[in-house]
Amino acid sequence: MSTVLLIQSKDAISGVSIPEPVKQYFSQAMSGEAWSYTYRGQEGVFYLEKAGKGQGHAESERLRKAGSSIAKSLNADKTNSVNVINVDATAEWGVALAEGLALTNYKFDKYLKDREKTALSLKIITYSGAGAEQWNAVQTIVESVFVARDLVNEPVLGLNATGLADKFVQLGQQAGFSVEVWNKAKIESQKMGGLLSVNKGSQDPPTFSIMEYKPANAKNSKPIVLVGKGVVFDTGGLSLKPTPASMDYMKCDMAGSAVVGGVMYAVGKLNLPLWVIGLVPATDNRPGENAICPGDIITTFDGTTVEVLNTDAEGRLILCDALAFAKKYEPELVMDFATLTGAAARALGAYGSAMMGTADESVKNDVKAAGDKVYERLAEFPLWEEYSEEMKGDISDLKNLGKAEGGAQTAGAFLKYFTNYPWLHFDIAGTAFNHAPDAYRVKGGTGVGVRMVVQFLMNKANG
Ligand SMILES: [Zn+2]
Repeated sequence: MSTVLLIQSKDAISGVSIPEPVKQYFSQAMSGEAWSYTYRGQEGVFYLEKAGKGQGHAESERLRKAGSSIAKSLNADKTNSVNVINVDATAEWGVALAEGLALTNYKFDKYLKDREKTALSLKIITYSGAGAEQWNAVQTIVESVFVARDLVNEPVLGLNATGLADKFVQLGQQAGFSVEVWNKAKIESQKMGGLLSVNKGSQDPPTFSIMEYKPANAKNSKPIVLVGKGVVFDTGGLSLKPTPASMDYMKCDMAGSAVVGGVMYAVGKLNLPLWVIGLVPATDNRPGENAICPGDIITTFDGTTVEVLNTDAEGRLILCDALAFAKKYEPELVMDFATLTGAAARALGAYGSAMMGTADESVKNDVKAAGDKVYERLAEFPLWEEYSEEMKGDISDLKNLGKAEGGAQTAGAFLKYFTNYPWLHFDIAGTAFNHAPDAYRVKGGTGVGVRMVVQFLMNKANG
């Protein structure tokens, strides 16, 4: 058992019930310039973080990172439990510190032979002080982020489209939402030609998962629909990707679907009074012998024809079926999540995700505010008419490729064609997967998107 103290005013240390020598040590040490202090003695290990170096959300993020460092130290010490005491800082800052600690306490180790010996030691994180009433919910949200990370980190050998759908069924059982899974025959009968065309080069059948959480006390009479790209592996198809720094991490191309799974899990576990639907079209994209060819013209769910100029621009082909399908719900809002374009990643790096769409300014502002609060920042890209012009076909209604410049927006413009409701598209290509750890955004799947959407939905539920 270790203790973490978050203190804003130096004098507040006097009121904390910790052993006297520890208190004396911190009282003196806090006159220094540092913001982080550690006491190691026979009384145990105590961490103290001073709050208030920065302001607002920036300080929350600094404290999440401080919590992340502490989590690493606790596990290095083989500590089993930690008590976070927010002595006198705001609830937001206290929770941020503990959240950063909890988000770092993650390891994808199911394939390690010695995992029982090398597993993380930290199991219990308790919290007291301002923000304590939020702690259970925050832990549930962290768990939901781990759901998304696990899904992303699982390679395609362990998670094909059927496996992904099975996971959603399991999550539904755990969190209390319903899941209907369409198999290939059903998808064929529904003429989801986008999804089927991407699947043509694969040995494994596609799936289309429909998740629904509809509590009796739902505040919204029209559902919020979440759509996630579920390309469980993207080779690029016949437009084959190179391996280094490209195909080698394409197990993450279903990260959008992981956002949907993670959010549905959180919504169910938190019993949010909101009607939420999750849609995931899933397949791998492979250059099998029957794979679609550049130049092929396909017919999507709503009858739109698309000339496939590049088989690596497949995400939009499966998403357009789901977006057109979503019309039947007459949704209040549709949010889609996809590792869609390198262009979005090049524009923003790993520091934020691209957002674009047709929802009202007020909805966009609410979503951006939720993103700022949890530091999953969003930058809005425009959907100017010219981007839609670029996607018009010559011998088909649309083509699946625009110019290299503005590639995130032309992808967005392609998707927009299939919507007739308030809609937001999130391109998480740059943020969904880390090649090296960045504090609590660990190496591998980051679970980005889950905290932002859950925050947005919680604000909505409380609004
Ligand atoms: Zn691709």
